Amino acid sequence: MVELASKASENTSVANVQIERLATTTKRIDDDNLEAQAPGIRPQTFADYPGQESVKDNLQIYVAAAKRRGEPLDHVLLHGPPGLGKTTLTQIIANELGVPFVSTSGPAIDKPGDLAGILSSLQPGTLLFIDEIHRLSIKVEEILYSAMEDFAIDMMIGQGPSARSVRMEVAPFTLAGATTRVSLLSRPLLGRFGIQERLEFYNEAALCQILLRSARILGIQIEEAGAREIASRSRGTPRLANRLLRRVWDFAEVQGSGVVTSALAGDALQRQGMDTCGLDRIDRMILKTVYHHYDGGPVGIETLAATLNEDRSTLEEVYEPYLVHRGYLARGPRGRYLTDIGRKHVETSGSKGWEQDGI
Ligand code: ADP
Repeated sequence: MVELASKASENTSVANVQIERLATTTKRIDDDNLEAQAPGIRPQTFADYPGQESVKDNLQIYVAAAKRRGEPLDHVLLHGPPGLGKTTLTQIIANELGVPFVSTSGPAIDKPGDLAGILSSLQPGTLLFIDEIHRLSIKVEEILYSAMEDFAIDMMIGQGPSARSVRMEVAPFTLAGATTRVSLLSRPLLGRFGIQERLEFYNEAALCQILLRSARILGIQIEEAGAREIASRSRGTPRLANRLLRRVWDFAEVQGSGVVTSALAGDALQRQGMDTCGLDRIDRMILKTVYHHYDGGPVGIETLAATLNEDRSTLEEVYEPYLVHRGYLARGPRGRYLTDIGRKHVETSGSKGWEQDGI
């Protein structure tokens, strides 16, 4: 460990380099800006939501069945990396069911009383969305158990010997939870979600459809080849694709003819630090660090995070899933290591525009 740390400090540029965080743009700011600029950019129906075909097919059946029976939909858990459309899909479910949608998040619910307040004010049938549900405290989570199962909550009133438990009914509702870390959910909570679906990274064709739709709504002139170029460098993630589309548009308006072509998109994205394989600077730093500092691995996630001066959970939730998905990185019992593809990728990095990193 000491040896590893001193090795890491030899290359100060790894730890000190200022990294542009493309993949982790904060969700709320990015999405809210976009929605303010172009209302309707978030799809409202299943038909308007490209990609995630098997998840969508399943959800459409569950929604149709719940509507036919006139019952609330079973509780839904959507999991997968950030920016893949969990929030959007939940809003679509509420829309398609024709029920009210109430949204909150794990970190926003501080005390059991906060959650009790939300639950007791729900209208019948409401879809209650809790984003980052893995971040609920255990005390808050316990309130959810009976609410999800019996539509009732047990609250302690008073303190000391006079404390007593009071049961309060809540209107039948559907809980929709979203999480990037399903492994952090407790078993009792996980077991109460009748519907559990994992969202996958998007393929290029689906991202292309998303980009062409966004361009239409934003009034951006884009060639199909331009959309394909952006799609191939968006880490399989619609949030990033929409963000890159707007950056490329800036280049098209200022330096080009106003039309997003493939050549213009390629050039603008290279300047944004997205290489021809769709990796951003942090992705590349991770691969290079494992290769150069740890001989290709295995290296523990804590050590890797310290070497990169990165937050462990950001590495685990945002970067690692895509690198694993693309087959560059693997997880083993002794830590993360480069696959053969990952090694080759670093060794041939000169041809992919990596020299701009200065790392
Ligand atoms: P998550 O909740 O998984 O982090 P969001 O649902 O907030 O992701 O989606 C992030 C952004 O990407 C939103 O602006 C949303 O409109 C867009 N988006 C996500 N999935 C799709 C999709 N399948 N089609 C079109 N836009 C999408």
